[in-house]
Amino acid sequence: LRKPKIVILGAGYGGLLTTVRLQKLVGVNEADIVLVNKNDYHYETTWLHEASAGTLHHDRVRYDIQNVIDHSKVDFVQDTVVEIKKDEKKVILEKGEVEYDYLVIALGGEPETFGIKGLKEYAFGITSVNSSRQLREHIEYQFATYNMEEEKDDNRLTIIVGGAGFTGIEFLGELTNRIPELCHEYDIDQGKVKIICVEAAPTVLPGFDPELVDYAVSQLQRRGVEFLIGTAIKEATPEGILVAKGDEEPWEIKAGTVVWAAGVRGNSIIEKSGFEAMRGRVKVQPDLRVPGYDDIFVIGDSSLVINEEINRPYPPTAQISMQQGEVVARNLAALIRNQPQLENFKFDNKGTVCSLGEDDAIGVVFGKKLTGSKAAFMKKVIDNRALYMIGGVSLVLKKGKLKLL
Ligand code: FAD
Repeated sequence: LRKPKIVILGAGYGGLLTTVRLQKLVGVNEADIVLVNKNDYHYETTWLHEASAGTLHHDRVRYDIQNVIDHSKVDFVQDTVVEIKKDEKKVILEKGEVEYDYLVIALGGEPETFGIKGLKEYAFGITSVNSSRQLREHIEYQFATYNMEEEKDDNRLTIIVGGAGFTGIEFLGELTNRIPELCHEYDIDQGKVKIICVEAAPTVLPGFDPELVDYAVSQLQRRGVEFLIGTAIKEATPEGILVAKGDEEPWEIKAGTVVWAAGVRGNSIIEKSGFEAMRGRVKVQPDLRVPGYDDIFVIGDSSLVINEEINRPYPPTAQISMQQGEVVARNLAALIRNQPQLENFKFDNKGTVCSLGEDDAIGVVFGKKLTGSKAAFMKKVIDNRALYMIGGVSLVLKKGKLKLL
């Protein structure tokens, strides 16, 4: 008898959790499980701001996928997904193709640039190990070059962060801790370094508790960040950016480094494969399947789940991706056992902590507001928990942030 074939695309938070839960739930004879991922490693997307600022080495934010999967049940394929042929039940990869009976799409998100000119070409992103390594190296290169020039260009030392959402603020927290070290290393007067955060919305960290937002802003301002709120980036150029408030005439800010951290859309594979999507994200059914496709689940940043309380989509997070992974694993086990009743996904918000650097953060955990070192401690607990859920105690010991524990 032929076993059903389950193919999981992406080994990020959602895909890898689906895999490790599924390999526990199903027996060797029940299904063939194939996991496809671009790299042979998983990276902690939620730690990339640290690798990008250079406060944590990029090897600390990744680990080998082979070390957390059960080889008797899961076949790992290192390849890049090119397109999903949903009506032919197959996935086109760069180096081949794979057929499926059940598919889980967990390919993560991509930066949303809102069509702003020049961003793709001239701004750096915080999206992968590769992009983080490039951004860190670029900032170091600017600092290293400054003293080599006969006519010193102070703009080289200006860093612009577009977006005061979660990623932008967490990156600023790390960057402001890193700058004194960089200045020391490259013999640069710290007074010459400018860090500017540009945000189009009327507030920093929209949706966060206003008291906590005030704390975050004042901490970052104290460390030298200048905030331009209610100000939109109109264009990125090789020299910097053009910004404007409302209908004002745009004006230029020159900068050696521009980082775009303002928004996520679904993976472009979703639209390319002809799925109905909103900003590249598939609005999934309560059981996390694609409407009209009973054999396809979408989870993580490429999925869209509505928060019924406010009738708006939940922001894409690692927390939601992992909870979706648990439900999808159980639903797949039910499907291959011909149990028609699938579980509906319900998000259980355990809280959010936004880091402001190694020893500082803001957050709401189990309904309680936290700031400073207590919040930073909770952030490390959350970071370790993500490792624990995928690789147990041994992965926490290998990769965890154990300093405070
Ligand atoms: P990901 O974890 O991004 O994984 C996608 C995987 O798919 C990757 O391994 C990638 O290599 C692979 N892939 C992509 N395209 C292809 C392809 N074509 N072929 C093959 N493989 C492919 N969320 C929180 O809950 N809490 C936080 O504190 C938090 N902090 C964040 C801080 C930063 C700096 C950033 C950038 C994000 C943060 N987030 C946080 C959001 C969170 O990281 C994402 O929501 C989460 O990573 C989404 O999980 P995912 O499984 O959808 O995708």
